[in-house]
Amino acid sequence: MCDYCSSENTDENLRGEDGVYYDVKKSKHYLYIEHFFGEVYKIEVNYCPECGRKL
Ligand SMILES: [Zn+2]
Repeated sequence: MCDYCSSENTDENLRGEDGVYYDVKKSKHYLYIEHFFGEVYKIEVNYCPECGRKL
């Protein structure tokens, strides 16, 4: 596990950064990407794009 896919991540505390978080309600991992102009993308992922860990 790396910082990018830390289990501490949520879509709340990732504000302003990129990372992978777990959506408890949907039981799925999402890649959270925020652009500097405030646009947010959430993409469902099965592997961490940073360390390759299966999620
Ligand atoms: Zn990782």
